[in-house]
Amino acid sequence: SAAPLGSSVIPIVNKLQDIFAQLGSQSTIELPQVAVVGSQSSGKSSVLESLVGRDFLPRGSDICTRRPLVLQLLQTKRKPDGSEEEYGEFLHLPGKRFYDFSEIRREIQAETDREAGGNKGVSDKQIRLKIFSPNVLDITLVDLPGITKVPVGDQPSDIEARIRTMIMSYIKQPSCLILAVTPANSDLANSDALQIAGNADPDGYRTIGIITKLDIMDRGTDARNLLLGKVIPLRLGYIGVVNRSQEDILLNRTIKDALIAEEKFFRSRPVYNGLADRCGVPQLAKKLNQILVQHIKAILPGLKSRISSALVSVAKEHASYGEITESKAGQGALLLNILSKYCDAFSSMVEGKNEEMSTS
Ligand code: GDP
Ligand code: MG
Repeated sequence: SAAPLGSSVIPIVNKLQDIFAQLGSQSTIELPQVAVVGSQSSGKSSVLESLVGRDFLPRGSDICTRRPLVLQLLQTKRKPDGSEEEYGEFLHLPGKRFYDFSEIRREIQAETDREAGGNKGVSDKQIRLKIFSPNVLDITLVDLPGITKVPVGDQPSDIEARIRTMIMSYIKQPSCLILAVTPANSDLANSDALQIAGNADPDGYRTIGIITKLDIMDRGTDARNLLLGKVIPLRLGYIGVVNRSQEDILLNRTIKDALIAEEKFFRSRPVYNGLADRCGVPQLAKKLNQILVQHIKAILPGLKSRISSALVSVAKEHASYGEITESKAGQGALLLNILSKYCDAFSSMVEGKNEEMSTS
């Protein structure tokens, strides 16, 4: 379930983007995004899906994610009668609401084929999808193609370099949180995920290690030392998860059942006793939210001064509206109003942060 602080801060940041857009200026605010990286079939799309709590991403044992999918989760209010409405909308199909999430998956596949062809081709052109739901945190997630080594189908001979460049273009952004996904049944020292995340974020301030496939580790082995960071330390630590297997996908096992099965998995294995805060998708969601809130708090003062100077320039512009039409002046005043309101909201948040710092 959503941690309230995160869901109250992030909408304001999104609102700032809107305001900058209204000002006609390119926003320089980097919204925190969460991107998944790792080898092909490591379980990246599965992890994202579980975080969202809905089935809608192409997943499977072959290459499924062939274009970056920028997924903006937007929290909506529950209706007064308590019922909820969840739907998706693609940038390339404006106004069309997808209520059926398997239709969203089909559209992602179709749109992937339109740009990258039907034969395993990969393209760096984004697919942008918004999901509106009362059950999500307001976060932008990016599902990326996995790192592959050997070209197949229509892939060019330099496919690995191309995919790495594509991944880096997302995760080198200082505001991007990186979920570095490594399956537990491979050697962590060979992890593509940790390697590329380490290039983008050498100090590990924004990389969370995700260990997938704990259920199919070699008999007699477990991920305890991995999760404890004893194999490769990671500042923000690791979370172990159990996603649905290929068989589960074929059997249409639901995400809800998968989460129950995951919980049961950890509960029934004494080796994971005492590691509850590192086990399971719900813990990942919690950890992410905490990190996100810290991150946003840290950039608040900068955003505040940016919006203050935007306010000043709008005020100047407004003053020069004298001889221009009434409606234009009205627009300026309205904008000033909105800006002041958000500037105030930011001030009180920043002050809130100072308070917290002085009392601790
Ligand atoms: P991606 O290529 O990294 O996005 O990986 P996918 O999410 O598409 O998953 C690749 C394959 O691995 C699919 O067949 C999944 O069912 C399977 N898979 C992913 N995570 C797990 C897991 O934790 N356990 C098991 N048994 N299979 C998994
Ligand atoms: Mg994928």
